[in-house]
Order: sequence, then structure tokens, then C-alpha cells
Amino acid sequence: MKPRPQSMDDPGFRKLTIRQRRAVLAEDQGLDFSQGDLNATQARDEILDLADVMVETAIGIMPVPLGIARGFLIDGRQISIPMATEEPSVIAAASFAAAQIARYGGFTTWGHKPIMTGQVYVVFPPDDHRNKETLAEELNRHEPELAKILQPILEPMTRRGGGYRGMIAAWLPESETLRLHVHLDVRDAMGANLINTCMEALKPRIAAITRGEILMAILTNRADQRLAGARFVLPLHALSRGDFHGMPLAQRILRAWRVADTDPARAVTHNKGIMNGISALALATANDTRGIEAAAHAWAARDGHYRSLSSYRIDHENLVGEIELPLPLATVGGGVGFHPAAQAALKILGNPDAQGLARFAAALGLAQNFAAISALTGEGIQAGHMRLHAGRLAFAVGARGPEIPELQRRIAREGVFNRATAQAILGEMRSESPSASGQPSTSGQTPKSDSAKQSQEDG
Ligand code: NAD
Repeated sequence: MKPRPQSMDDPGFRKLTIRQRRAVLAEDQGLDFSQGDLNATQARDEILDLADVMVETAIGIMPVPLGIARGFLIDGRQISIPMATEEPSVIAAASFAAAQIARYGGFTTWGHKPIMTGQVYVVFPPDDHRNKETLAEELNRHEPELAKILQPILEPMTRRGGGYRGMIAAWLPESETLRLHVHLDVRDAMGANLINTCMEALKPRIAAITRGEILMAILTNRADQRLAGARFVLPLHALSRGDFHGMPLAQRILRAWRVADTDPARAVTHNKGIMNGISALALATANDTRGIEAAAHAWAARDGHYRSLSSYRIDHENLVGEIELPLPLATVGGGVGFHPAAQAALKILGNPDAQGLARFAAALGLAQNFAAISALTGEGIQAGHMRLHAGRLAFAVGARGPEIPELQRRIAREGVFNRATAQAILGEMRSESPSASGQPSTSGQTPKSDSAKQSQEDG
């Protein structure tokens, strides 16, 4: 019998069960999964089994808070949106903007068909002097034959109303490759595996037709046909607050949007704020966050200049906010299909289809953007951010339960945000009421921001 791996670098490590991997880590690294930070990776056996079938060499789970952004009115329906995120203030900001927009009619959304694209790339030896543009046209003439190869694979998807939606070949002179794009309607799935299977199936025939060598065959995450969008219309007077009045604030929002639309250095943060919402919904539903983010950023740069994903305009006495971007979110398949938390998240949303989920994501991204841009051009975001930071600091220096909000308040009042100060204040608090010291949290109480208004950030 082979000896049991002694470390995680041993190739046999991946063949162990999740519990055996933990035992190796305990031995090799001195990690105790019931202690300290690693305690967070503890979970019921069922969740560990789930982790073990989701990825390779699983040793635990990485819990990320799951919250609910409430107060959305989307196409006339009141809705709460589940969000999984490690970043404070994101959920509060989305809820704050959603409530403001809901008072004036909410979001109107739309979605395009869930069409994804697969790619096959063909290369040729240097002594092949055939006209490759003509070769691409020839490949295009073989469309019916190629589509027929896909028919049996696509049969179930065609029965669902999806399936084959066309193909187009092109010669790419810069990389000297011939590229075939195949478009498929993947209904409620992300479609990665179906598309990859289809592209693989086409390889031999494409190689034969072109007499070239297949370089690679895979889906593109660009998803530029699978768009979804959202819009809101807010009367200017609704923007007024404190010293800031509607029209000047709307003009500042417009100016800030124009900056993001023209200066990529600003656009990156502006769009990151939008993705704070969209990625959190994608993660809550166990969607492929990287695919969605890649598609969004490629879309932002579609004219060769990286721009804002949202836009704003003043129309009569209203501020109009709008967004449209690729949102390849799935409601079946991949992790979405069997992760119980994702299933629960979809239930909270009323079990939408993939297009419905994409429309919620568009509204959420726009809400997040509006919260950020109005805070930035109004009172700024830092005060709220530091108050939230105080909550984390309180936890980090050992405050628990009711101590956390109290220490958070005192750190914020002091205005000094470092561990030494936090520790000193906690010491003072405990000497004021020694019985409360070191109480473990049983209440589930967590630090709260003073108000959602203070917690609108996009950075
Ligand atoms: P999947 O392989 O689980 O396929 C979806 C399944 O759902 C199919 O079997 C389909 O028949 C079934 N289905 C049931 N009802 C459906 C409906 N109404 N609409 C559509 N399908 C329905 O999932 P997938 O979407 O093919 O692939 C997603 C996974 O692939 C993700 O985990 C993703 O991370 C991964 N992936 C991504 C890439 C990439 O982004 N480049 C590459 C490879 C794999």
C-alpha cells in the first residue's frame, strides 16, 4: 500500500477525502480546523461534501456574508436581492438607492436573448499561400453541413426553445488565424459546457474543409449578444438633500459620469462599483463571477476606449440613469444547479429565468452606481466608510457581541482608526463594566452603519 501523503505538495494529496486532507494539513502545517481563523471553514458534513464535489482538493469552505438588498421596485414588482460580498457598505448602498428610486416608479428593465458564442481557431503553415479570406468564405458556405453536425448535440436545447443561431467565419490578419464563431441560444444556462462540446464536435470537419490545423476551440466569455439593461427616472427635486439641491447635484452627477466615460482611470473604479452589486448577486446565485466580470469589462471597452458602463442625462425636470451590459447569468447548470444557497437565493428572487435574473442584475448594478455617484458628488464616501471600518477594527481587537457597536461608536467619535486606539478604548470599556468583557457573541449582533447614506461607496 502506498504511504499516506505527508504534505499538501504530495501528488497523492488530491486523492484523499476532504477529512484526510485536513488531517494532513494538521500534521504538516500545524493547522487546527477547530481553532482561530480556520474555525470559519468548519461546516456540517453535508457542506464539506458539497465543497468536495464542487472543486478539487477541497479542505473546507470560505464563508462570505450573504445579505439582502431590500426595497427594489423592478418592472412594477417589489423585490429583495440576495448579495454575497465581503465588502462592507455595498448592500446598504444598493438598498438606499433602490428605496429612493422605488419612490418614483422604480426600474424599468429589458433583456436580450441568451445567445452565447463558441470559437474555433485554425492556423496554417507559413508556406500555405492560399487567400485566407476566400477560405473563410468557403467555410461560411459549409454552414448547413456544420450546423447539421451540431443537431444531435443541440436537440435538448432546441426543444427548450434555444439551440443553433448561426455562424460566421473570418480571417484575422493580426494573428494569422481563421476564426469561426458559432452562436447558440443556451436558454437558462451559462452554456459553457454545451458550447465547448459543440466546438469540439466541429473540429475534425473544420480541419478537413480548411486543410488547416485546429489551434483551439472554446466559448468566448464576451457574451455581447446576451445584454440586459435597466433605467430609472428621478425628478430632480428628489435628489435634493441638506445643502445640495436637485439641479446642481444632477449636473455634478452628469459631470462625474462624463469623467468616467472619458477617463479610463476613473471608469475602472466607476465600473468596479457597478460590479460590486452584479458580482455579489452572481456569487449569491453561484454563477461564474469571472465570466460575468470579463464580459462587462470587455463591453466597457468595446469601441477601443474603456468607458463607463452606465450613463446619465437630464431630461426635462428628471435625472435619467441607464445601464446596458452583457449579463450571462444562469439559473440552471454549473454551481447554480446544485448549491443549496444558490437555490435559496433564486427562491428569494421568485425563481426567475436566466433573462429575468440578468434584468435584476442590471437594476442592481445601476442602483449601486447611482448610490456611489450621488454620494461622491455630494457629501463624499469616506466618513461612512471609516465608521464601517471601525466596526471591523472593533472585531479585530477582540470586541464581541454588544461590545462591537459600542466600540465602533467610540472609535468613530475618537476619529483615530488604528488597533492601538481600538484596544485602549476596549480596555476602558471593559474596566467600566468588567462583567461584559470577553463575552462571546451569542446575539448575532453585528456592527451597523449609522445610516445607509454614510455607506455609499464604489471603491
Ligand atoms: P452545465 O454543464 O451544468 O449545463 C447546463 C445543464 O442544464 C445542461 O445539462 C442542460 O441540459 C440543463 N438544463 C436544464 N434546464 C435548462 C434550461 N432551461 N436551459 C438551459 N439548460 C438547461 O452548465 P453550463 O452552463 O454548460 O456551464 C457552466 C459551468 O461551466 C460553470 O460552472 C462555469 O464556471 C464552467 N465553465 C466556464 C468556462 C468559461 O467561462 N470560459 C469554461 C468551461 C467551464
